[in-house]
Formats: sequence, C-alpha cells, structure tokens
Amino acid sequence: MKLLVVGSVAFDAIETPFGKTDKILGGAATYIGITSSILGVKSGIVSVVGGDFPQEYLDMFTKREVNVEGIEIVKEGKTFFWAGKYHNDLNTRDTLATEVNVLENFDPKIPDSMQDAEILLLGNLHPGVQLSVLEKMNNRPKLVILDTMNFWMDTALETLMQMIAKTDVISINDEEARQLSGEYSLVKAAKKIHEMGPKFVIIKKGEHGALLFHDHKVFAIPALPLEEVFDPTGAGDTFAGGFAAYLAKKGTFDFETMKSALIVGSAMASFTVEKFGTERIQEVNESDVFGRLKQFKELTTFNVEVQ
Ligand code: AMP
Repeated sequence: MKLLVVGSVAFDAIETPFGKTDKILGGAATYIGITSSILGVKSGIVSVVGGDFPQEYLDMFTKREVNVEGIEIVKEGKTFFWAGKYHNDLNTRDTLATEVNVLENFDPKIPDSMQDAEILLLGNLHPGVQLSVLEKMNNRPKLVILDTMNFWMDTALETLMQMIAKTDVISINDEEARQLSGEYSLVKAAKKIHEMGPKFVIIKKGEHGALLFHDHKVFAIPALPLEEVFDPTGAGDTFAGGFAAYLAKKGTFDFETMKSALIVGSAMASFTVEKFGTERIQEVNESDVFGRLKQFKELTTFNVEVQ
C-alpha cells in the first residue's frame, strides 16, 4: 500500500440551486479513497465512524481495494455529519450544521499494514490529529501532503503552524493562502508559506484552476470549463486524491511530476462536481479519465514563438 489517507468519512446533506439531498456518503477520505482506486492506486484510510455507518459503504471501499482496516467503528457513537448550502454562484457556501460526533475524540490508530506507506495525505482535520498521525508512523513517509482550511487557522493556528512545518506539500485555496500569509498577492503568499516549511505550495482557485509553487518556479492550470457544475462538494478532496495517487503511481516527487499530478487532480475533480456528493465519481472508469486528460491537453497546449 503506497498511499495512506487520514480524513473524515462522513454523512453529508447538501443543498445547491439544483436540488437537495438527505444524508449521503461524504467526507474527505471518502473522496480521496474512491479517486485513488479509479487511478489504480491501492490506498488505506485511517478514520472513525459510528455504529450508524452502513456496512455497504465499507464494502464499497473494500471492493475498490481501499483498505478499511484503519476505519475505527465506535458502535455506540454517531458518524460525523456535515450540512451545507451553496449560493447561486456555487463558489460560496454556508455550513448549516457540523455534528462532530465520533470525530470529537478521534485518536487515530495506524494498522501495521499501513506503516510502510510512501505518501501520507492528511485530509482536512484538526491539526493536532494530523500531527499525531505523523508521530505514530514508524518511519516518516517520503512525502507528506497536507490539506487544511480557514477554520483551523481561526481556532488552532499554533498547532497548525507546527503541522505545516512538517509538511512537504500544502494544498489550500486562495482565500486561505491569503489568511495564512497575510499577503494579498498569491505569489507573495506562496513565498511566505514556503518559509513556514512546505517545499511545494498548491493554491486552489476553484473554477479558475490551481497554482503550484516550488523553488522560485510556478506552474498554473485551469479548471476544465464545464457546461454545468451541479455540486462542488468534495472537489478539493478529489483534487488532492488525484494528485497524491498520481504521485504514488509514479514514485517520484519532483516538480515536473507534480505538474502532471496537478492536471490529474483537476481532471478528477471535474467529475465530482457533475452530480451530488460521490455519485458521479463512483461511476467513473479509467477510460473516462483518459478522455478528460485529453480534453485538458487540448485546452492547455499551444504553439507560440518566443524568439
Ligand atoms: P470540500 O468540498 O472539498 O471542502 O470537502 C467537503 C467534505 O469535507 C464533506 O464531505 C464533509 O463531510 C467534509 N468536512 C466538512 N467539514 C469538515 C470538518 N470540520 N472536518 C472534517 N471533514 C469535514
């Protein structure tokens, strides 16, 4: 197993201008696990759910060769629940409910079978939990990727800074990069975030794509222009999952490989937003991915004379 994922496995209730759902399968680690499996990368999830979490969802992971040994089931507890409502532009959302439930006292345990993971992807969770996972690894993974959000900047900044200092690749959105660095310019923000620890800084810009910064270099990709975006939930997690899985497949973690990984992440995220929750990404197969990567190539390749 090359990729170890730590993050929420959850129930979500989502409302967009196009409709709403009851409690459906969600959580950062869920999107990441499904995405890795589509790309043919075996991953393992470390998380916690309650006794209310359906066995069929765990079976779905197992069928996809996502190792669920590290998903603790607290029989008397309830699974983490998040509810959100998107505004008409789909770029902004209100959180209607966050019921932390079993995540409140989450003490991650890493099964022996996952100790040898080369890549550790720390999904958006309390930075103290993220730090404890790193401490529990027998050997430091070759690459530590961190996803986080403004909520932890507001409530646990000091711990978050300790976690960031131990991170190789950080993935955050533009507003969060500005908040974390105190710089409006994303170039200046990335510079400051480099100084905090990560050698690679990914800044996501929603429908405007993403930037990758490393060692005075920058690479930019667009998001695929889609006729219809239905539900953006999980796009960031799918992006991180595609990025990490591609690197796990290649086994090299340099800037050039990361440029391709960024494209794969963006292509995978473009599926997630087409239906509610994990509905669309669950239908995707390898040939769909190739099709989308081809579209990306056509979108971004051009000839121009520079001399
Ligand atoms: P994204 O749309 O990429 O920001 O991720 C949405 C997913 O994150 C949903 O499936 C939620 O279940 C999950 N989520 C939302 N808030 C939290 C939180 N505070 N901790 C862990 N997971 C969360």
